[in-house]
This record gives sequence, structure tokens and C-alpha cells, in this order.
Amino acid sequence: MLAMNYRRPYKVRAEQMPEPEIEHPGDAIVRVTRSCVCGSDLHLYHGLVPDTRVGSIFGHEFTGVVEEVGPAVRNLKVGDRVLVPFNIFCGSCFYCQRELYSNCQNVNSQASAVGGIYGYSHTAGGYNGGQAEYVRVPFADVGPTVIPDDLHIEDAVLLTDAYPTGYQAAEMGDIRQGDTVVVFGAGPVGIFAAKSAWFMGAGRVIVVDHVDYRLEFVKKFAQCEVIDFREIDDMAVHIKKITDWLGADVCIDAVGCEAAGNFAQTVTGKKMKMQAGSATALHWAINCARKGGRVSIVGVYGPTFNAVPIGNAVNKGLTLRMNQCSVKRHLPRLIEHIQAGRISPREIITHRVPLEEVAEAYHIFSSKLDGCIKPVLVP
Ligand code: NAD
Ligand code: ZN
Repeated sequence: MLAMNYRRPYKVRAEQMPEPEIEHPGDAIVRVTRSCVCGSDLHLYHGLVPDTRVGSIFGHEFTGVVEEVGPAVRNLKVGDRVLVPFNIFCGSCFYCQRELYSNCQNVNSQASAVGGIYGYSHTAGGYNGGQAEYVRVPFADVGPTVIPDDLHIEDAVLLTDAYPTGYQAAEMGDIRQGDTVVVFGAGPVGIFAAKSAWFMGAGRVIVVDHVDYRLEFVKKFAQCEVIDFREIDDMAVHIKKITDWLGADVCIDAVGCEAAGNFAQTVTGKKMKMQAGSATALHWAINCARKGGRVSIVGVYGPTFNAVPIGNAVNKGLTLRMNQCSVKRHLPRLIEHIQAGRISPREIITHRVPLEEVAEAYHIFSSKLDGCIKPVLVP
């Protein structure tokens, strides 16, 4: 089959690979119909996630059609159209019983830091992902969700990660009526976090980024204020200035660790060149929150060397919440939002690319070229 294949940092290609097989009675094989590239894939692509092995297939945001099921599978049948949450989880352990699917205990991952994730290095279990024609889906009875007939496939594929993650980012911010919410990052996750913040009662939503077309898009899509951080000398002072010298009630980090030399910007008012794995947005989130405020972190931090301004967080009495999204928990509510016409997630899709051109898709998405917000691979 044709699949994305990781060679080295900044180098992926489409290549013929062996088709996956049922390895466990609870597995299914899914023929992929749509597969997104995610900001999380960029951390792999930038070489920031440990134990990303040459030859692995990325891709944790996909829809497909069930091609084959193992003998133990009860809830799925051949031909079902499914969306597959990025988490691989057993559905029955201590964490899954509490709907903390991203923390599943029964999926093999290094140091048990996270549960399994499709196509996300051996630190997340070493599973191959869905940027391919076929993918093996473990615990097929619990993860995949049959796509309702009236749900557009491009909305469905955004329900596998980006939309629920943005939603959970806002939810973890524990937004109260009238709160000022500052979202760092106008990528897919930040865009959905900003939109979701309104549903939770925010009184003001501000999104920070430095990519013009993304700021323009989020301003319309989420009807929020935007800040281009290239124009700001000291982010914490600026946010205070525009919030009666208080700071934001809630800050959301939808950026994560950055690629080397990505851009020059400020952490404490000083211009500086980014090092691989820097955590500028996280610093800003902590430093821009008001005393007693809340910081919600969904940005992914691959490397282990991120310095966090924990002293500021302690002194301000912040509440910090963070996690990988537990996608499945949010699906009923988010499907309802889409069906009621309150949101049309697929509006963020800017590029539909044949799987053969996966290298171009990574390049334009990573370099923020050609107005790219969300690329979708079509096998
Ligand atoms: P993306 O790369 O498309 O978007 C990130 C945006 O942040 C870009 O527009 C970039 O210009 C902007 N940015 C960079 N530095 C910034 C800074 N200092 N301040 C403000 N903006 C800055 O990625 P995405 O798909 O939107 O994902 C965003 C983050 O969320 C990534 O770290 C990704 O790994 C993570 N993520 C987490 C989960 C989860 O479950 N926790 C799920 C999906 C994605
Ligand atoms: Zn993702």
C-alpha cells in the first residue's frame, strides 16, 4: 500500500509499505478515506520527539471504512464508515472508566507517560498511523465511532483531534461568565479553542499568533480579537494594559514546543532567536494570567528540557491544567454542535492533497506557506 514514510527531520515521503494485518482478536483494519496532518506531526517532523523511528508512518487524525475485523470485535462490521479518535485506549482500565482515555493504562507506551497514539513515535506506543491507505486499529470496539449519515466527512475527520482538543483546552480553562480568555496559537487547535470559549461563557476572546492569514481567519471564524506578537515588546505587560492591569482570567497554550530558529520574538521584553523546543507560548500563558487565574495547556512538548516559570505560577496562585485530549468523551456534544449549525469545523481545511504528495503537504504546513491552516491527505 502507499503510505507516508518518515526518513529524518524535515524529510518524509510517500512510499510502498506492507499492508497492516490483524494482530490481536480485538483489532480492525480500516481503509483510510481522509487523513489530516496535525501540528503534533510537526513536532515529529522537526525532530523534537524522542524515539521517532525511521520508516514509521505518522497520522493520528483519520476517517475510513472498516475493511476487516478480528474475531473478538462486536461493535463494528465490515463496511462501517468510522472516525477514529487519535487516542488508542482499552476502554476498561482505571483511567478509561473515568473517561481519561488519553491516559489509558493498558496501552504500551514508554514510561506510561501517555496512552497510545497512532503514528506518534515509540514514546506513544510505536503504532503506525493513518497517513496511509490502510491502518491497524487496536481495541476496535472502543475507539472508532460510526459516522452519522448527515455528518460531512471533513467535519468527521476534524472530530478525531483538532476540534475536541480545542474544546478540551477551553474546558480545562474552567471559563466563567464574562471571563477574558487569551489563546496562544491560531492553528487548528487554537482556532477551535477560541470558538469553544464563547460557548462556555467567555466575555472576551483574544488570539495571539504571528502568521497574518491565520490571524485574519480566526478573527472571522471565532469572532475574536487578535494580536500579532511581532508588534508586541512585552506580552505580559501588553495583556495587562488591555485588561485593566489585571491580566487574563484564562490563558490557553495551543502552541507547544517550537522548531529551531522559527522566528525571533520576546519572552521578557527581549528579542531573541528561538531554540528547538522552546516554550515561549507557555511562558506567556503563565505570565499573562491574572493572579488566581487559570492556565490550560494542550500544546505538546516533545523534548524533556522545557524550563517552566513555575515560580511565577506559584506566586500568582494559578491553576494549571493540561492533558492530551480524551477525544471520545467530547464526541456526542461536539457532533450536536455541528448538527445544530453552531460550528462548521471543515471551514479550516485549506488543502486537500493526494497521499502521493505528502512531502509537499508537510512542507507547506510546517513553513506556513500558501495560506495553509489544515491540510488533509486523500489516499
Ligand atoms: P499549528 O502548528 O498549526 O499551530 C500552531 C500555531 O502557533 C501557529 O500558527 C504558530 O504560528 C503559532 N505560534 C508559534 N509560536 C507562538 C507563540 N509564541 N505565541 C503564539 N502563537 C505561536 O498546530 P495545531 O495543529 O494548531 O496544534 C497546536 C498545538 O497543539 C501543537 O503543539 C500540537 O502538538 C498540540 N496538540 C495537542 C493535542 C492534545 O491532545 N493535547 C492535540 C492536538 C494538537
Ligand atoms: Zn493531531
